[in-house]
Amino acid sequence: MEQPPPYPGPPGYGIKQPLPTNQQQPGYQATTTTVIQQPGPVFVGLRFLENPTAMICPFCQASIVTSTLYTPGTLTWIACGGVALMGGWLGCCLVPFCMDSLKDVIHSCPNCQKQVGVYRRV
Ligand SMILES: [Zn+2]
Repeated sequence: MEQPPPYPGPPGYGIKQPLPTNQQQPGYQATTTTVIQQPGPVFVGLRFLENPTAMICPFCQASIVTSTLYTPGTLTWIACGGVALMGGWLGCCLVPFCMDSLKDVIHSCPNCQKQVGVYRRV
């Protein structure tokens, strides 16, 4: 009188309950779920040069003329290495760091002080 044990069929599959996608926990307060995505500064068609540039600040929407800040960039280091290779070890390789024409230029908004662009030599 023994009956063969019934095969359970494909294990597991088909029994899975569909996961609710919009699972809301009761009592959960969404406090900081509002993510303000700033669409990022759009610089289409706007090229920064070495000089201060008149533009609309993407951050504070003010009509500004960017304030520029020279900073040692890639070309500065290349020039430094170039001078060093030519034998100008003693201090001469630091000359590029004193030459603004070899530095990158950071444009920042004088109104909100945020960086709005950068001009790179390389
Ligand atoms: Zn600004």
